[in-house]
Parts: sequence; C-alpha cells; structure tokens
Amino acid sequence: MSSLDKLNFSNTFATLPEIFFSAHQPQALSDDFLIHFNGQVADLLGIDRDAVEQNDFLDIFTTKKPFDGFKPIAMCYAGHQFGHYVPRLGDGRAILLAQLRDKDNRPWDLQLKGAGPTLYSRGSDGRAVLRSSIREYLCSAAMHGLNIPTTHALFLSGSREEIYREQIEPGAMVLRVAPSHIRFGSFEYYFYSQRHDDLKRLGAYVLEQYYPHLLAEANPYLSFLNEVIEVTAKLIAKWQAVGFAHGVMNTDNMSIHGITLDYGPFGFIEQFDPQYICNHSDHQGRYAFSKQPEIGLFNLSCLAQALLPLLHDDADEAVKLAKAALANYQAIFVGHYAELMAEKLGFTCVIENERKIVTALLDVLEANHVDYTLFFRTLSQQLSAEDKNKCRDLFIDRASFDQWYEIYQNRLLQENVLPETRSEQMKKVNPKYILRNYMAEIAIRKAQDENDYSEIEDLMKILSDPFKEHSSYEHYAGHPPEWSKNIEVSCSS
Ligand code: AMP
Ligand code: MG
Repeated sequence: MSSLDKLNFSNTFATLPEIFFSAHQPQALSDDFLIHFNGQVADLLGIDRDAVEQNDFLDIFTTKKPFDGFKPIAMCYAGHQFGHYVPRLGDGRAILLAQLRDKDNRPWDLQLKGAGPTLYSRGSDGRAVLRSSIREYLCSAAMHGLNIPTTHALFLSGSREEIYREQIEPGAMVLRVAPSHIRFGSFEYYFYSQRHDDLKRLGAYVLEQYYPHLLAEANPYLSFLNEVIEVTAKLIAKWQAVGFAHGVMNTDNMSIHGITLDYGPFGFIEQFDPQYICNHSDHQGRYAFSKQPEIGLFNLSCLAQALLPLLHDDADEAVKLAKAALANYQAIFVGHYAELMAEKLGFTCVIENERKIVTALLDVLEANHVDYTLFFRTLSQQLSAEDKNKCRDLFIDRASFDQWYEIYQNRLLQENVLPETRSEQMKKVNPKYILRNYMAEIAIRKAQDENDYSEIEDLMKILSDPFKEHSSYEHYAGHPPEWSKNIEVSCSS
C-alpha cells in the first residue's frame, strides 16, 4: 500500500492521437465535500485507505490541486441509442483522469463523472445530480457484492452547487473505476465515420492493453470479438438470474470488458414480471427486463459490424466470421443462465428438464406477483415443514405453488446433499438484500433534505455483503413499502 503521491498514475489512452479524445480539465463543484469513500475499491487499486484522511484528497481528484500523473481527457465514442445510430456522443460529463496499475499490474481507469462540460456535452451542463450519483455509487457496490461484473466507485462527493433539471438539485460526483471505459460505441465511431486506420489503431490499443493473450492468435480481432460475446452473454445471464434491469442498454453503455456500465434508471425486479420496464422514459419497452438477452445480441451485432474491417480483408469473409461468432451467443447465454438458476434452486448440476422447472417457477411467480428476491431467499431456508409454508405464504394461488413445489421436491431427490448444506449453499447465491428503488430513495431524501448521509453508509454495509444476515437491517429484507410504487426513474439526471 502506498499513499497517493507514491502511486504510479499514467494515461495510456491519452497517448493515442487526439482524434480519440479531447483534453479537458475537470471543473470542481463549488463547496464540494466528500460523502463516502469505498475502502474495498481503494484496496483493489492499491490506494492506502488512509489516503482519504489527507486534507487535499478531494482537491487532488477534482484537480483543484495539480497532481503529477493525471492527464485528464474526455473520450470520444458513438452508439446506437434506442436502436438508432448517433454518430457522436463521447464523455459529455465524465473525465478520465488517469490509469493506475494494481499490484498485479492490471490497469484501472479513474474517471470523474459529473466533472463539467467537454467537447462532447452537446449543450448540456456536464454535471450529475446527487440523486443519480448516489444511485450509481450504491449500485456499483451492490453489483460487486452480488458477484456481478461492474464498474466500481472509489468515492462520492457532494456540493452546494445548484444543478438545473426538472427542479434544482445539488450537484455531485462519482470517481468511477473500471478496467477501461471503452464501449461498443467507441469502435462504432471510427467504423461509421470511415476512419478505418483509426479503427485499427483503437483495436491494436485494446488488444495490447487488455487482451495481450490474444495477440498470438491466428486472428486476434476475431478472438477479441469471441471474448466480448462470451463475457457479455454471461453478464446478461447474471442480470437475468438476479433480476437486474439495466434500463438503457444502448451500445454506448456496453463495455468491451463485459461489466455493467453506466447506471442510470436501473432497477431490480420486485414482484416478478418479465415485462418490467425500469426506465420511465422507455415508452416502447425496448429495454424491458425480458428483452435484455436479445438486446445483448443486437448490441454485439453492432460491435461485430464495426469490427468487420479488422476481421478480414475480404468483406464477405469478414461477414461470415462475424456471423459465425455471433451464432455462439445464444448457447453461451442459455448455458450460463441455466447454471445460475440451478444454483439458485440448490441443484448441484444442471439436468435435462431443468429448464421446465425454471420456466414453470417463473410462470407461478409472475401469476402470483411474488417478490423475486424474497422468494429465492425463503426457498433457501427449507429445513422444516413450516419453512415450506413461509414460501407458500408468498403466493395468492397456493395450489399453483404446491404443484410446482412437488416437482421441485422430486428433483431434489436426485441430489445427494443434506438439506442444511443445500440451504447454506443457496444462501450464498440468493441475496437477502438487493438495492430496491425505495432504499436508494430513502438515502437520497435524507441526503438532499437533511444533509444526512448516514443511510448511504448503512446501505453500503448490507449491499456490499448481501448474502449475510445483517440482523439489525432486517427491515430492508422484506417487501418494499407501498409508497415505493410511485418512484419514477428516468434517464435525465
Ligand atoms: P447516458 O444516458 O448517461 O449514458 O448519456 C448519454 C450521453 O449523453 C453520453 O454521451 C453522456 O456523456 C451525455 N450526457 C448525459 N448527461 C449529460 C450532461 N448532464 N451533460 C453533458 N452530457 C451529458
Ligand atoms: Mg452512457
């Protein structure tokens, strides 16, 4: 561990030609202050946890105080937004300060979100409000706690600066951490603007920095595409298994590392409903929960299209290779989802008619408006006949549950595992706590109305370790309150 000035910051992305980015100094918010610091993320980066005690910690990361090694830039990218290609997006409110290599020499981007306008702000203010920053901060810790690949957040800072949205809100910043912030849309930008030399340069950079193990392959870019397809299919399988809806699966929000990126109007499913739309502005339901797997494939097809010039000199051959690679997506997704659901149900292996049990379960959960997380956690504690009733009580139509439960019990007979052992295993994959909208809302209201940030600290405790009991937080493990139905979350934040 080392204090900040001993760390080795660099910015390799900034060594690319200027077409890839635009240099910008972050603009600190007025009267800013640190709200929360994530020690786990500091450990990941090799930053001394005590560094946050330094008086100038926030000034350094908002570049109020000059710091060697930072080379702040905004990255340029494009993307398919709600199915339509937008030729130039880019970091309109985020600034990549530097990269830091951890003890295993892996590079991590440090990106300040809400850092003021850039070349890519398209007339907007380059800011993020406290509300959305709290949601991103909490959710990145929650996803990591759930073992779902994600960007991280080193700290959350607040300010007295007024930001104009539908109403005036305080501005805030999150220091986002990720292997890189390169998106599918980064490749699309250079493909659609016919800058194929730059496309190659970006491809070469990505391979060298993040996929060096592929450099010796016969067709490294095809292997890269294959890897992105695999990690993306597995990521989305994890979202589906835990009940997470991203909300804005545009290609500019899709990471080449298969990590969850850009927390906006996300939501965790409560009463199970495949049609669940977490984004209030998604009127068509393009990004409804059940659509995520197919949107994943659409997005990967956009990436594959942008990679065509790198896959083969002959255009027809390139298309053939891309199509063959994309054809693997479905099987990877289905296979991983089946494994995850089998684990959730306490099965030690996937057997042939597993899919039927899962589909039948999802049907009864939907028909009975059962809370998805509560159901699986309750099912994880089936040790006595009374425990069955606890599960049964979650259903309005008890007979439909009994019918499913009988099939489930028969399936369990094929398992050679003690109920106590199974219960322990199931509790490791079925979280007791997820970030329900109302929990974030309580933290937001306290922060906004009372300058009280204690709820954030409490939620970080349970969300970063959501499989544990945390008995003093039982109130967050039950059904959401009635008022939470009225919470609306949309993109503009
Ligand atoms: P998002 O929906 O957060 O993924 O953002 C989509 C695009 O809009 C990205 O290019 C963002 O950088 C940009 N953007 C979103 N909010 C702002 C803002 N307040 N100021 C400038 N650019 C923004
Ligand atoms: Mg985005």
